[in-house]
Order: sequence, then C-alpha cells, then structure tokens
Amino acid sequence: MITRREFSLASALVLAGGWRAAVHAADPAPARPVPSPGQIWEGLVAGNKRFVAGKPRLRALASLRRELARGQYPLVTVLGCSDSRVSPSLVFDQTVGDLFEVRAAGNVADPVALGSIEYAVDHLRTPLLLVLGHEKCGAVEAAASGEPMPSPGLEALVRHIKPAVERVHGQGSADTLLARAVEANVHQSAKDLLESSAILRRHADGGRLTVVKALYRLATGEVVRLA
Ligand SMILES: [Zn+2]
Repeated sequence: MITRREFSLASALVLAGGWRAAVHAADPAPARPVPSPGQIWEGLVAGNKRFVAGKPRLRALASLRRELARGQYPLVTVLGCSDSRVSPSLVFDQTVGDLFEVRAAGNVADPVALGSIEYAVDHLRTPLLLVLGHEKCGAVEAAASGEPMPSPGLEALVRHIKPAVERVHGQGSADTLLARAVEANVHQSAKDLLESSAILRRHADGGRLTVVKALYRLATGEVVRLA
C-alpha cells in the first residue's frame, strides 16, 4: 500500500497504469490499488501548495515523456477557463500526462468540449472531474454586463454563463456580485455537465466518477474547494 506521504499524481499515474495492465492480463488480481478520489485531490492540493510557495517539483521530463509515448493514464479531467493565468497543470504543479485539460473561457462546455470530457471519463477512466473557476473571470464579467456581444461565438459563450449571473442578481455591489457570479458559474458548469451527459451521469452514479468544484485565487495562487 502507498502512504499519503509517498503519494503524488506522478506515482499514481504509474499505479493506474499497473492497475490497467493487471485488468487486461490473465491474472485477474489487481496488482496495486488505484488512488481514491480523495487521495487524488490531496495530490492536487499538495501540488497547489508547491505552486503557491514557488517551489515546483523537479521532474525527469525527458524520461517521463518517453514513458508516456506508450499511452496516457491521467487521473484527473479538468474543465477550466482559458485565462492565461490559470493553467491547471501549473497551478497544481503537475506534469505531462497528469491532467486531461478541457479549457474554454468561463469554464463552460459546449458539445465539443463535453465530448472531450466524456472521452476522458469513459475511455481514459479518469476518476476525478474538476471544474475550476477563477476570480475576476472576464467571461463571467462579460455575461454580467448585459451588453450585446459582437459575434455569434461570444454570444454563445455568455449564454452558457447567464443563468449563473441571474442566480446571484441583486446580491451586493458590483465586485461582490462578480465574485458570487464566478462561484455560481462553477456550480452551474458542473451541473450542466451532468445534466447534458448520460455518460457522465452513469459514471457518477456508479461511483466511478467524483466531481469536484474549485476556485483559483489570482493573487495568491491558492485553489479553494467549493462545497
Ligand atoms: Zn476566466
């Protein structure tokens, strides 16, 4: 058994690979335990602490890259915002092969993004799906402005976010409202994923998928889990 101290997503990746190999081998006994969603989340939290401290882990990237050329076994699917300051792999101090990232402004999923998430959950079997929003999200701000958007693409984007903005309507000053709308939008995105996808519901209902919602703080670099 691995201990919590020894656990990292990098080692979990190897464990998951070993587990998959065991599943497909003649010997049906799983070689090693698959990390639980709680352990996977703890690995992300530990990585975020390293990022906040400015002390990323040193990794043998060249050998890792060669190893991963045979196949990918990410443990986490992330739906995050495209914002250049909020790269999930960086803010959780993860490396190649760790996170299956699906990103669009406002951390919303259109049908193509949803298909990518379904691929990761159903085919790659990632046990954790993280919806990651962030403070002062420009896409949420645009949706909250109520201004007409200058293109069909931007209009489609804010249409996904507007229900979250409407939910917090009238709850405080402009800054407070934006902060609440950002949180509401994380919840809305997670809800939309499950409502739109029978595949995701099947995995979640079967206990094979845990959905986690979180918020990234721009200035401190901290990721805070939302209830
Ligand atoms: Zn954003």
